[in-house]
Amino acid sequence: MTKLTIQQTEEQLRAMSKVNAPSTLASAVLAQVGLIDQYSSIQTPLGIGFVSWNRQGISALMVLPDAAEFERYFNDRFHRRLVSNDNPDRHFLSRVAAALSGEKLDLAFDLRGLSDFERAVLVKARQIPRGEIRPYSWIAREIENPKAVRAVGSALGHNPIPLLIPCHRVVRSDGKIGNYLFGSESKRAMLELEGVDTQQLEDFADHGVKYYGSDTTNIFCYPTCRHARRVTGKHLVTFSSEEEARAAGYRPCKVCRPA
Ligand SMILES: [Zn+2]
Repeated sequence: MTKLTIQQTEEQLRAMSKVNAPSTLASAVLAQVGLIDQYSSIQTPLGIGFVSWNRQGISALMVLPDAAEFERYFNDRFHRRLVSNDNPDRHFLSRVAAALSGEKLDLAFDLRGLSDFERAVLVKARQIPRGEIRPYSWIAREIENPKAVRAVGSALGHNPIPLLIPCHRVVRSDGKIGNYLFGSESKRAMLELEGVDTQQLEDFADHGVKYYGSDTTNIFCYPTCRHARRVTGKHLVTFSSEEEARAAGYRPCKVCRPA
């Protein structure tokens, strides 16, 4: 056995690094160590979409007509490499599919590419239960930035993981459905799918109804709060503002926190 000098060893190592591994192998290794994201197509309630992930978690989900558009979106947004994975972990994909159809699962998300503010907005949006909605101003208040209502709207408009992070459950402060990154018709469709009566909400908006109260508890709620929905017709009162509710002696609900 020949002993190698340090210099010879270095030369050999250099030579080894020049060996070109097959590109798929290289991608697989890079994906394993978390340097690139992988993606696969997936069925969503709004049609075929694409989901990407890395070792940190799910990094993006978009409803787009084809893979090339998803790659373009991803590269523009994150400037990271993305490779398609035709044989993804079935268990992982079935969990994503289950979450898309409404199952409450603790999926990991990779929100590294976002600002602290955007992350705070999305984390808060994630806490809105299925079948309920909150206004943009609620998120702004909850993340202790009450004046940033408009910025909340734009952070939600740039949500890289819509549907799983339910930005569709955030509506305008006047009760109208408002914008959505897949269009307001899709927002309405998602909410209907989750059991929200969007027609009723728009009727409330037209009549200035913002809160529900119960004359037995003297608590007021957002109309979709699970507590508000339990109030029976004869005990239900409505308010058009927090001031009106407070003046009538009502306290804000501790669950939906309307004020
Ligand atoms: Zn409530």
